[in-house]
Amino acid sequence: MRLALACDGVRVRYGGIEVLHGVRLSLAYGTFSALVGPNGAGKTTLLDWCAGAAGEASATEGRLWLDGRAAAAWPAARRASAGLRYVPFERNVFPGLSVLDNLRACGATAAFSRFPELEALSSRSAGVLSGGERQLLAVAGALFGRGRILLLDEPTHGLAPGLADRVLAELASAARDDGRAVLIAEPQQERIADHADFLWPLDRGARLTAIGA
Ligand code: ATP
Repeated sequence: MRLALACDGVRVRYGGIEVLHGVRLSLAYGTFSALVGPNGAGKTTLLDWCAGAAGEASATEGRLWLDGRAAAAWPAARRASAGLRYVPFERNVFPGLSVLDNLRACGATAAFSRFPELEALSSRSAGVLSGGERQLLAVAGALFGRGRILLLDEPTHGLAPGLADRVLAELASAARDDGRAVLIAEPQQERIADHADFLWPLDRGARLTAIGA
């Protein structure tokens, strides 16, 4: 079976301090996985690394495969062309564009049918949205866009509980019904346990072993 994403031996250091110590992880198409662990465990660092968005402050090493091809040397744009879509925790929308144009930019206007609350905001500038509205827009852009491998950093952060559950259900459906691979970072393991197929506990950046949820 061809994996959507696999990484091995991932080490990331900020200055002299290593925060990921040789992490390994794999994602199959059709599955919904969550990277869980406390604040500071390195979840964002690992997602950044996989997306090619690790900052210049970090020194990194590790192997990465996207859709079966060695991709560690690829810049972020090439990883995106291979189907990877990353929704970081912040700066995840175009603030100067309207909600509609943000979704158009992602090829994701189908989001309105599942999230009518976004349609109500259609003409509003993304830069003036509340934190929760912005988060929903960013996640919807990935959910209804073209990516086949979705990485999302705390996608339900700032969402009301009912909306958070709908977002998690849509992420699960994108994986199981649409055959995509979905990985999210989530600090609250109990919130995600009922939704995800696999949990990857990340504790102080040590090696990961999946737990079938
Ligand atoms: P959170 O849920 O709080 O975002 P996390 O699990 O995503 O936590 P990271 O944000 O990846 O964890 O941080 C892992 C460690 O790396 C932390 O100790 C953090 O302080 C450190 N770190 C992250 N970014 C940098 C940076 N640019 N420079 C120095 N240290 C950093």
